[in-house]
Amino acid sequence: MKILVLNAGSSSQKSCLYEINNKANLTKPLAPLWEANIDWTAKPDYGLLKIFANGQSHKIDLPQESRAQSTQIMLDTMTHGRTKVLDNLKEIDMVGHRVVHGGREYSQATLITSEVKEVIKNLIPLAPNHNPAHIEGINAIEKILGNIPQIAVFDTAFHNTIPPEAKIYPLPYEWYQKGIQRYGFHGISHKYVAQRAASILEKPLTQLNLITCHLGNGCSVTAIKNGQSVNTSMGFTPLEGLMMGTRCGSIDPAILIHLITEYNYDAGQLNDLLNKKSGLLGISQISADMRSVVNAMVAGNSQAKLAFDIYIHRIQSVIGSMLPSLDTLDALVFTAGVGENSGLVREKVCQNLAFLGITLDLDKNNKKNIEQNIADPNSSIGVIVVHTQEDWAIALQCMELK
Ligand code: ADP
Repeated sequence: MKILVLNAGSSSQKSCLYEINNKANLTKPLAPLWEANIDWTAKPDYGLLKIFANGQSHKIDLPQESRAQSTQIMLDTMTHGRTKVLDNLKEIDMVGHRVVHGGREYSQATLITSEVKEVIKNLIPLAPNHNPAHIEGINAIEKILGNIPQIAVFDTAFHNTIPPEAKIYPLPYEWYQKGIQRYGFHGISHKYVAQRAASILEKPLTQLNLITCHLGNGCSVTAIKNGQSVNTSMGFTPLEGLMMGTRCGSIDPAILIHLITEYNYDAGQLNDLLNKKSGLLGISQISADMRSVVNAMVAGNSQAKLAFDIYIHRIQSVIGSMLPSLDTLDALVFTAGVGENSGLVREKVCQNLAFLGITLDLDKNNKKNIEQNIADPNSSIGVIVVHTQEDWAIALQCMELK
């Protein structure tokens, strides 16, 4: 079975082709046969398509055309030249799309029909940067590959099990009825790393309580009880919760009222301030990248140290706020760029949580110990590092639907 996975962003498109032949052998991710990455912001007049296939990488300039034309050029590389991995595109059996927002409607991967497309379109006001790109991607595949099965895998779906007390904001109830609620994001990643953690702990996920920390450019924490999401830090949008690379996370909403009334901020300026100029970048005044912040901190920069300290404090606070949603905690799971690579972040987060029974094996923590329990053998709670692989997780969810 050949599954093409499309992960569309507002100005990018990541794609992978997997060949999955043995359903029983899926505990470890397979390497894709072919990978493509389009970046429409790379150059002023055209986009850049990078392909990795047959052990080699290639770069192709794309004219700034429609997503349909770019998708056609990208898919053609699978059947031509040094990037050839198929004789014919008809060999592809299924296409899985990461869809950022599935609203209240979807709690699992779903075969895309005209009704599903309509729902994704209707959710554009809630995901203005992503859902239009998903619709364009789905239409482009329809045009090129006809009525091949296309599956939507929603980033919100895993969080549909969050109970009302954690989902509903204490606003007048009519706003909940109009759709304002905690949706949560990074669901594909939280679900996947929870499954991997269960396999590392050699226990069924349905018997485990976990707190998963996805720390990338965007950051979120999820409480998972018996395998189901019961609370998550991102909310109505991916702005709530933790401090992130450029996003502030949770702040007093009255700050916005103050900025509007005293500084004449409008919606666009607020959006820019909270989503693009805050977080690690806003406090450190150096970078949104944790590596640069840590380097500056080590060199004695006090703003970088402040940014790092706030980042850690916020993760610890959110982990603390997740505990009442769980009766017990089996493991803390770290994933994504920072979670997988920064031993320092993991060490500092765990340091103040020792009273919960979390003790790290510092030696294991400081080595590259992905896909392992790095807790001290005497720790009553596990600490697991998992490499998140959203594209592979999407392919797996497509397989489950087959
Ligand atoms: P995205 O959320 O865009 O998928 P990633 O999960 O790839 O992002 O995470 C990107 C972030 O990971 C970078 O901005 C950087 O801060 C962080 N990162 C990557 N490698 C390291 C490292 N070795 N140490 C600390 N942080 C790292």
